[in-house]
Amino acid sequence: MTKQRIALVTGANRGIGKEVARQLSHDHGLKVLVGSRDLERGQEAAHQIGHGADTLQLDVSDPTSVVAAFSRIEADYGRLEILVNNAGVDYDTDQQAHTADLARVHRAFETNLFGPWATTIAAVPLLKQGQNARIVNVSSGAGAFSGMSSGTPGYGISKAALNALTLKTAAELKSKRILVNAVCPGWVATDMGGGGRPVSEGAAGVVWAATLPDTGPTGGFFRDGQPIDW
Ligand code: NAP
Repeated sequence: MTKQRIALVTGANRGIGKEVARQLSHDHGLKVLVGSRDLERGQEAAHQIGHGADTLQLDVSDPTSVVAAFSRIEADYGRLEILVNNAGVDYDTDQQAHTADLARVHRAFETNLFGPWATTIAAVPLLKQGQNARIVNVSSGAGAFSGMSSGTPGYGISKAALNALTLKTAAELKSKRILVNAVCPGWVATDMGGGGRPVSEGAAGVVWAATLPDTGPTGGFFRDGQPIDW
């Protein structure tokens, strides 16, 4: 009997992350770990998802929390198949780069860049133990150099850096058959989006990258399963 595959989604207590966790669990039969910086909110989301979804306290900007979370995955499962780096903050439309509050920009980088970077470092030993391992970095068109314009400096530049991290880790992990891709979910109606298309549609493009076959792409930037410009 094949083992049930395990997926960790960060920031899965609400928004796109919660729906990604739901689709991975309900539509793809994965054991889903609902990463949440607030344990109770994570437990509530896991309960709503059902299907054996479990909760993991995980604040991606807190190194102690990251170490504890991955120690628990190692102790409980000894492996991981999918890491979805979804947690993100501060779509700072009220800022401009040339007048930005840099302390605020630093905070955005802690979650949007260093968070996924820390979870990737912690996850790779476990992903190497898994089958058909995948990393998905939930990025944004705001991080694309090709369309970069004024405003959202902390958010846009942290997502551009996340895209660079995607390319580096994809190249480094290719020989281990770990596929690493960046996905823009589009403009999605969550607390962050404040409007936009249904959460299920934004999440579907993330789930697509998380469930790619071995022949699938790595080191790409996608929206709705289609390549987009960096
Ligand atoms: P959201 O509704 O604001 O949810 C963000 C999630 O991230 C929440 O679960 C939040 O947890 C979690 N989070 C924030 N900081 C965290 C940390 N340090 N550690 C762990 N979790 C943390 O946002 P969303 O729209 O679902 O966005 C999900 C991802 O999609 C983000 O990376 C975002 O940049 C990207 N994205 C969204 C859109 C859009 O239109 N919505 C467009 C492009 C890209 P708490 O509940 O504890 O705050």
